[in-house]
Amino acid sequence: MNLILLGAPGAGKGTQAKAIVEKYGIPQISTGDMLREAVAKGTELGKKAKEYMDAGKLVPDEVVIGIVKDRLQEKDTEKGFILDGFPRTLAQAEALDKMLSELGKNIDAVVNVTVPEEEVVKRIVNRRSCKNCGAVYHLIYKPPKEEGKCDKCGGELYLRDDDKEETVRDRYSVYRSQTEPLIDYYGKKGLVKDVDGTKSIDEVTADVLKILDAL
Ligand code: AMP
Repeated sequence: MNLILLGAPGAGKGTQAKAIVEKYGIPQISTGDMLREAVAKGTELGKKAKEYMDAGKLVPDEVVIGIVKDRLQEKDTEKGFILDGFPRTLAQAEALDKMLSELGKNIDAVVNVTVPEEEVVKRIVNRRSCKNCGAVYHLIYKPPKEEGKCDKCGGELYLRDDDKEETVRDRYSVYRSQTEPLIDYYGKKGLVKDVDGTKSIDEVTADVLKILDAL
């Protein structure tokens, strides 16, 4: 099963991707996670991406397309994959179509998680991520057992640089102008499945899994 998770920053794509990984055993391909890892390691890719990310802007298409292309060649994607945070522009969507047709693959569904801007802002500024394993918490909806510490690995929890309110608003407006047109792009292909992302995490997961079970 080859899936795309579409939705504004903070819509819950990463959280839902993890639930899909658990149920279907296919890997989550999060360009945001891959870029953050590159930044943390100080690689060439990380150096290129950092200033865009900190400013809430999109990393240039050719950079992101390159990392997804490499990732889709890996063996664990043979049974399927979940693209989380990619594509984010029309150029990326077109590049993805080309990559997939070269690999003889198709997208089976585009799950579009919808959440209004004010809810996104409220969610993201309360989001805390583990520096060590990347697990994501929310101070109100999903607090860690011990303040500032990851339940899974004990790592330090932090607020991502690009999760500050001003940057979140910039990211949302980038989403509206660059990424939202993809709903139409995939809608015309009959692939879009809308999910109301304002419900609780478990309710959204139930809705997503119901859609995927029916594919
Ligand atoms: P995310 O964790 O998906 O919210 O991504 C965090 C940041 O990484 C974004 O604000 C962008 O700067 C960058 N990024 C992630 N995915 C992409 C993409 N597909 N295209 C361009 N930039 C991306």
